[in-house]
Amino acid sequence: MGERIGIDFGGSKIEGVRLNPAGEVAARRRVPNPGGYDQALAAVAELVRALEAGREGACSVGVGAPGSPSPRDGLMRGANSVWLNGRPFRADLEAALRRPVRLANDANCFALSEVVDGAAAGAASAFGVIVGTGCGGGVVLGGRLVEGANGVAGEWGHTPLPWMSEDERAAGLVCWCGRLDCLERWVSGPGLEADHRRRTGVSLSAPEIAAGAEAGEATCRETLARHADRLGRGLAMVCDVIDPEVIVLGGGVSNIAAIYPAAQAALERWLFSDVCVTRIVRARHGDSSGVRGAAWLWD
Ligand SMILES: [Zn+2]
Repeated sequence: MGERIGIDFGGSKIEGVRLNPAGEVAARRRVPNPGGYDQALAAVAELVRALEAGREGACSVGVGAPGSPSPRDGLMRGANSVWLNGRPFRADLEAALRRPVRLANDANCFALSEVVDGAAAGAASAFGVIVGTGCGGGVVLGGRLVEGANGVAGEWGHTPLPWMSEDERAAGLVCWCGRLDCLERWVSGPGLEADHRRRTGVSLSAPEIAAGAEAGEATCRETLARHADRLGRGLAMVCDVIDPEVIVLGGGVSNIAAIYPAAQAALERWLFSDVCVTRIVRARHGDSSGVRGAAWLWD
C-alpha cells in the first residue's frame, strides 16, 4: 500500500491529510464545508486533487463523516449535517474521485486512529468516544473497526444515561434524535454547560467551568464531579458489554484533565466486576484523529 488520504468531513470544515507509509503527515489541507451536497462533493474532489498535487499515481481515500451509510441501501442516515441524510455519499464520492472510497462514521475513524498509533496503540480491545458538541463512539477489536450488522456499533451517545437519579430523571432531557435521556444530552460539552446552568442559574462555557473548578470554585467542582460520574456510568455500561482494555476520550470535554480520575473512579464503582483494569485515557492525536483514522480505513 502506498500513500493514504484521509478526509474528515465535518459540518463546518472539511480537513484532509496525506499520510506516507510510515503514518507521517506528508500534506494537510482544510477548507470550509460549503454546506450543500453537490458543492461539498466538489470540495472533497478539489481537496484530494490538492493533496495529490506533484506526486505520481492515485492515493487510497478514506472518509469519516457524521452519521453512517445504511447497510441496506448505502444511503446516509443519522448525520447532524442533515442534507447528507438520504444521499448515496460513498457512491457519489467514488464517482467524483474515480476510485473506490471507504466511508465510516467519524467517531469510528477516531477510535481506529487511536488504536493504530495513538493512546490505545496495541490494545486488543478499545472503545473510543468523542465527547464534544455531540457524542459518538467506536469499537475496535483485534485492531479492526467493528461497524456492526446494522452499521451502528459504538453509537453510545443515543443510549440512555444509566442508573439515573431522581434529579436526572426529573430533568426530562429530550435529544435531537427525539428520544428521552440520551447520553449525548448529558455527557457532551453542551450537556455539561446545560447541567451547570440548571443547577446554578449561571451560564458558563465548558472551558470556563473547567477553569473555575481548577481555581477551587465549589459549584464548578460539583458540576465536573456530576459530569465525570455520568461519564463513568455510561462507560461502565459499555464495559459490561464489550469490556475493552482501553477507553480513549476525544473532543472538547476530553481536554478537562480533572475528568479522568473521577470518571475512572465512577467506572470502577459501576462496573459489574470486582476488578477494573480498563483505563480511561486522553486521545493522543486530538483533533487529528478524524483524518488519521479515515486514512487508516485502508489497511
Ligand atoms: Zn439521541
